[in-house]
Amino acid sequence: MAELKLTSARKSFGSIDVLHGIDLAVRDGEFVVFVGPSGCGKSTLLRLIAGLENVTSGEIHIDGERVTHLPASERGLAMVFQSYALYPHMSVRKNMGFALENMGLKPAEIEARVARAAAMLRLTDYLDRKPKALSGGQRQRVAIGRAIVRDPKIFLFDEPLSNLDAELRVATRKELASLHAGLGGTMIYVTHDQVEAMTLADRIVVLNAGRIEQVGTPLELYNRPANAFVAGFIGSPR
Ligand code: ADP
Ligand code: MG
Repeated sequence: MAELKLTSARKSFGSIDVLHGIDLAVRDGEFVVFVGPSGCGKSTLLRLIAGLENVTSGEIHIDGERVTHLPASERGLAMVFQSYALYPHMSVRKNMGFALENMGLKPAEIEARVARAAAMLRLTDYLDRKPKALSGGQRQRVAIGRAIVRDPKIFLFDEPLSNLDAELRVATRKELASLHAGLGGTMIYVTHDQVEAMTLADRIVVLNAGRIEQVGTPLELYNRPANAFVAGFIGSPR
């Protein structure tokens, strides 16, 4: 079970208010997409959830437990970034298993988790390669694999496909959808791409200038946009 709840979550950097009080409840197993224009606060919101930034005020709960001031390493989440940041000198196997060594897992358990994630991501034949001998799509799958092996309560993705070309983006998007179907984990996914949001999300959170404009299923947002901003952003006629 992995529910997430944000209550009046605010974030300021110095005198600049970036998030103005976010209230949001994400259900166990839900695929929620944060969408909005560049600079609206999507990454900051994800980083607050991850524990990579501290809220200025407000609360964060995961599975009913208050995690507002817990460090990232104790929240049981895994984040996949836009820049995959793989270790160039390590094999795919090592890239995927490295964090588990630090968590103190036994070698056999690490090997089993890496093998399972590699099979899921069609990386089994590439485990001994170095990142430079992989395609962009394969590298991004390794980055996703690194999150999967940690068996996180919640997956956080920050524009994971934005460095891929259009064709690969569609293919990887489909993989993510089937991954979610297979794993059943709670996923929070940031993008500025409306098509990505509409195709992946159980529910979409539309952000604008540090505020939530609307939360709803893709169909609800398309059919009943709350305002002109949502209508314009999602692309429905209004
Ligand atoms: P998005 O991911 O939606 O493009 P961000 O969350 O990265 O937006 O940024 C939202 C706003 O917060 C931007 O105006 C950005 O410049 C500002 N911001 C983000 N991180 C910092 C920081 N560490 N210090 C100061 N301002 C920041
Ligand atoms: Mg961002």
